[in-house]
Amino acid sequence: MKAVIVVGDGMADRPLKELDGRTPLEAAETPNLDEVARGGVCGIMDILSPGRPPGSDVANLALLGYDPYRCYRGRGALEALGAGIEMGEGDVALRGNFATIRDGVIVDRRAGRIDGTIFTEYLGDVKLEDYPNVEILVRPTLGHRLVVVLRGEGLSWRVSDIDPHRTGVPPLKAEPLDDSPEAERTARILNQLYEVLRGRMERHPINRERVEKGLPPANAIILRGAGAPPKVKPLGEIYGVRGACVAVTPTIRGACAAAGLDLYDAPGATGGVDTDAVSKGRVAVKLLEDYDLIYIHVKGTDNATHDGDVEAKMMVIEKIDDMVGYLLDHVEETYIAVTADHTSSIRVREHVGDPVPIAIWGPEVRADDVDAYSERLCARGGLGRIRGIDLMPILMNLLDRVERFGA
Ligand code: ZN
Ligand code: ZN
Repeated sequence: MKAVIVVGDGMADRPLKELDGRTPLEAAETPNLDEVARGGVCGIMDILSPGRPPGSDVANLALLGYDPYRCYRGRGALEALGAGIEMGEGDVALRGNFATIRDGVIVDRRAGRIDGTIFTEYLGDVKLEDYPNVEILVRPTLGHRLVVVLRGEGLSWRVSDIDPHRTGVPPLKAEPLDDSPEAERTARILNQLYEVLRGRMERHPINRERVEKGLPPANAIILRGAGAPPKVKPLGEIYGVRGACVAVTPTIRGACAAAGLDLYDAPGATGGVDTDAVSKGRVAVKLLEDYDLIYIHVKGTDNATHDGDVEAKMMVIEKIDDMVGYLLDHVEETYIAVTADHTSSIRVREHVGDPVPIAIWGPEVRADDVDAYSERLCARGGLGRIRGIDLMPILMNLLDRVERFGA
């Protein structure tokens, strides 16, 4: 027996006026999701706890079966893991942007959305004079984004951002967020690193060229979201399963990497509303030949919500439905779980704390009377109301992978 988990990012919503009191899931055409609900067991799920809106990083850790309140240690390390960088215990990682500074003030937090990978070789490994024993990796990732990893003794992820998250102000100084000497030292390292990188980027010929052409130069690197890898045991060790992840979003890939899942891409999958979701389904079906558990994440529903675009949200929901249809047509001896990593409200354009629907379809589920997939209908299902961290043990139990407790 195998399992596929399909996560529509922020796919659940509240009833909307513009949809005559229906949610986007209720208003969209979703014959395949409905099929999963009809043949499966349904429920609703508080990703963290009732009423608490989760970030996507924390939410996906919960769906992977880990208690975020215990294991979560910042977003940066997830991002680094998602970029394929190995993270050891004690390493600290941050996310960052190439930005444009003029007269000491940030004027563009994305340096004209520059493709930072042109600086990959130029940046590489950095050494700071005052901290020769700290290894520093600077890795451009996607577009204007990058990750920085600090490796060495005496580091802490409890430091504040250099990125002020807005323009028209100077970059901030990293500050320790607790009283430890490690946090104090890491803040000093980051502030020195900022200055060193600022000098290097200012001197780069590409940036001089950009200034001549009137383009914003990528003359600063502003860091945020310091983190250490989550303290988790890989799913392979807990349940003896081989797992794979099909996702584009770096943080989600990072959470899956932390869980010991192998990371895969799908052609045409973009991480946006224009994504080819069925392509992910095709990759997942292939992977099922070698893996027991496939985690598929589709981001577009959340992007559409943050943009307040209900049409786009319904369109991505229908793409997810097509993908689930492909799965239903092509899997055997496999459970399919469909859920969201949190509810995202079109009205407030943000994550909210309402529970998400969950439906599990497969050979030996105790199918209930729910006959369509939605926030409201799933609430009547046989799973009742569960928490995010319950999903993985429920699925692994169906795969006969959970050890008995007691004699
Ligand atoms: Zn999310
Ligand atoms: Zn979001």
